[in-house]
Amino acid sequence: MAGPADSSSSRILLRKLRDLMNAGGSAQQRLDKLVAMVAATMVADVCSIYLTRGAFHELFATEGLKSEAVHRTRLKMGEGLVGLVAEEAAHLNLADAPHHERFSYRPETGEDPYNSFLGVPIVRSERTFGVLVVQNRVQRQYSDDEVEALQTVAMVLAEMVASGAFGDLSGLADVEARPSRPELLSGRAFSDGIVIGVAVLHEPHAPLGRVIADDPAKEEARLNAALEQVRGSLKEMLDGDPGRISGVSRDVLETFLMLATDPSWESKLQQGVRAGLSADAAVERARGEHRSKLNAARDPYMRERLHDFEDLDNRLLRALAGVDSTQPQAMPRDAILVARELGPAELLDYGADRLKGVVLEEGGATAHAAIVARALGVPMVGNLHGLLSRVEAGDTIVLDGERGEVRLRPEAQVISAYNQRISLRSARAAEFARLRNKPAVTKDGERVTLLLNAGLALDVHHLSEAGAEGIGLFRTEFQFMVSETLPRLDAQTALYRDVIEAAEDRPVIFRTLDLGGDKMLPYMAAEREENPALGWRALRIGLDRPALLRYQLRALISAAAGRSLRVMFPLVTTVAEFDTARALVDRELQWSTEHGRKPPARIEVGVMVEAPALAWSIPDLKGKADFISIGTNDLMQYFFAADRGNARVSDRYDVLSGPALRFLKRIRDDAAEANIEVSICGEAAGRPLEAMAFIALGFRRLSMPASGIGPVKRMILSLDAAELAEALHQMLRGDGGSVRRELTEFASEMNLPL
Ligand code: PEP
Ligand code: MG
Repeated sequence: MAGPADSSSSRILLRKLRDLMNAGGSAQQRLDKLVAMVAATMVADVCSIYLTRGAFHELFATEGLKSEAVHRTRLKMGEGLVGLVAEEAAHLNLADAPHHERFSYRPETGEDPYNSFLGVPIVRSERTFGVLVVQNRVQRQYSDDEVEALQTVAMVLAEMVASGAFGDLSGLADVEARPSRPELLSGRAFSDGIVIGVAVLHEPHAPLGRVIADDPAKEEARLNAALEQVRGSLKEMLDGDPGRISGVSRDVLETFLMLATDPSWESKLQQGVRAGLSADAAVERARGEHRSKLNAARDPYMRERLHDFEDLDNRLLRALAGVDSTQPQAMPRDAILVARELGPAELLDYGADRLKGVVLEEGGATAHAAIVARALGVPMVGNLHGLLSRVEAGDTIVLDGERGEVRLRPEAQVISAYNQRISLRSARAAEFARLRNKPAVTKDGERVTLLLNAGLALDVHHLSEAGAEGIGLFRTEFQFMVSETLPRLDAQTALYRDVIEAAEDRPVIFRTLDLGGDKMLPYMAAEREENPALGWRALRIGLDRPALLRYQLRALISAAAGRSLRVMFPLVTTVAEFDTARALVDRELQWSTEHGRKPPARIEVGVMVEAPALAWSIPDLKGKADFISIGTNDLMQYFFAADRGNARVSDRYDVLSGPALRFLKRIRDDAAEANIEVSICGEAAGRPLEAMAFIALGFRRLSMPASGIGPVKRMILSLDAAELAEALHQMLRGDGGSVRRELTEFASEMNLPL
């Protein structure tokens, strides 16, 4: 291939392409002319178009290969170099193609003599429609300009396929310009609930309309104006009222502004318009590149920057389309938001009343938006690989936040099956609502206190809704996790005060910051640790960096002025650590009195039992700790030596097994002996079967997620605690394995609703 394709040859190519499309003729004729024109302009021996049809990449047109191969050569998904380009959605530039391991020889095409190969994907909105290829006899590497020119042609082609410009080509209707088949995607449940709604894209695809520009000078002016608009609005946000930034920190905006003035981004866009693309198409091309790099990038820092660039591309596209980015999108009533990733602040901006659910292509295990979604009661499923390429705005979506599944464009029977599940769930919810104000007392008169696990002010409404008697665990780190910057003392105080006030007379146990392990803060640099769960986390950080902990204690003390304050420390391993932490409380109390602040009417300081070492130290806590709360999530991960965040091992061991239950009983009995109030606050307490076992062991205070309160209360109301205690005692005489089956049988014999 001799003629180098600089931006002027890209321009010639685009002009010829436009003339060709305007010239009329059937779709096949236009495709045939297109390949001939590209081959001639790029001085290639071969130019071919493969379009994806069903499960194959089919040769639709070629210049240079044997014409009888057209519509006959069909490569399976992933087959050959064409399959590789489609699979990776990235270009492939080879001087010696026949020796590439993925080369697949098709004799009917007569491609034997061609050595060099350049393939680019035909993609739009993350969907790959096919592959455009040029080949040459000589062994050569194609230049960057040539790659770019072919990518530009591919982009124009993608637009044409998507807009139905080839609609008259027989069979091309199968080419999926817009996905239409029902699909099931499996991910991870981030927030419970089942809803049916309509897809709304967080980053809508801007309508591209024209791809090739009539007047490059005019397009460049449009592009520059849009760039100015985007930069101007970022500057305005930075200079403006910080309250309006809606949680996005200055750092993020500053990075954005820096990227928006990045000369290489700008010159890339300008190159596009100078080559004859419309301004919109030039931005779309940049966005496509950022996306394909993003899909390939593993390094978290790189990914973050590419996300930022993608966001800027989107802002620019909206500016070109005349859409005001500062105005919220208009939403249909039953909107299900579709996004690659969503920040907690963005989710709060949408608000629970505008959203029925959220589905995310990514969303890590610690997805902070998931915490907010749960607090808002918005169902959410994440980790849905390939979501963005399979969904279009307006598609019907069934979001199953129970199983972590999403169904796109479901058939009528599927919708009706889900409607039944939704009715069943609401009948159950209505039943639980009736129990709301009933105390949880067993048939034989044992009173069990059911408390709520919470973490944001938004959670507090669950107290009355679910009928909990107080907050048994308030995870204060959530405020830190959903914030873009370290919450200041006054923000912490305000949150704690709001929570105490909203809880009215019900008690609240605030747990001090439990960071580290799986809870990382974006704005705090953390060293990578080999075993984070066993690493520098929770109270360990608090004791090594006492300023952070003391500030928090100061905020708690001032928020509880004149009222009761209950505070507890996470992941305490030794009694000495507890003593040190408790001394900090005393010191802060003294500080407030010295500064004339009104102290809390009463302070109780407790400890979480999460480390096995502390579980064996309960007698030593006598007279020191006012209460203890067993965090079974962590205690069991250490007890069974199984990472709670690793699905491979976390479900391998059962809390309902002899050793675990005997261990828990020992802690309870030691606490009773030492006269220390004891509760369980791990997730297990919210599952009726586990709650049954804990009650049988003698626990009378259980703290759980809001969704557990109704089911656990319903079970308690039909339970004979003494009978169960005797039965469990017998079960534990078995082989030490799980007693889950026996407990389930007991429940069914006793007609206990689980
Ligand atoms: C626990 O470990 O059981 C607990 C309640 O704390 P967290 O889940 O926040 O670690
Ligand atoms: Mg814990």
